[in-house]
Amino acid sequence: MKTLRYFAITLLMFPLQLLAGTCEVTLNGSDSMKYDVSEIKMDASCSEFKLVLNHSGKLPANIMGHNVVVVKDSDFQTVIGSINMAHSAEGGYLPSDAPVLLKTGLIGGGETTEVTVNASAFKTGESYTFFCSFPGHYAMMKGAFSLN
Ligand code: ZN
Repeated sequence: MKTLRYFAITLLMFPLQLLAGTCEVTLNGSDSMKYDVSEIKMDASCSEFKLVLNHSGKLPANIMGHNVVVVKDSDFQTVIGSINMAHSAEGGYLPSDAPVLLKTGLIGGGETTEVTVNASAFKTGESYTFFCSFPGHYAMMKGAFSLN
């Protein structure tokens, strides 16, 4: 726990370092259907990229579920068009063949989920969107993902 606390303090002291590009990012989602981050910049030199999502709210996953999905900007409309309650909640209500580059589990209040992906899926100069694929959430829970 001490290490974690030190890490958190370090992040608070050097927020600009995070914006400069990182191989690991932590987002918080809340019961007000928002992320606390609107832009993610992954360092182009990363070999792996880790994304951690905390849900700081209290509502369960079937009411206020959150995940983080990253897609190419050019695939965004197609992917959000495929969101359907008929698909599993664990899969973020997306079909298994959706062109997603990163997807965390879908969690409820008080939960945390994380995923680590091979960074070679992401290319410098390409624009990506990150969003929550719980039905209806992408309008509020959406941001830009890029490499630098
Ligand atoms: Zn959500």
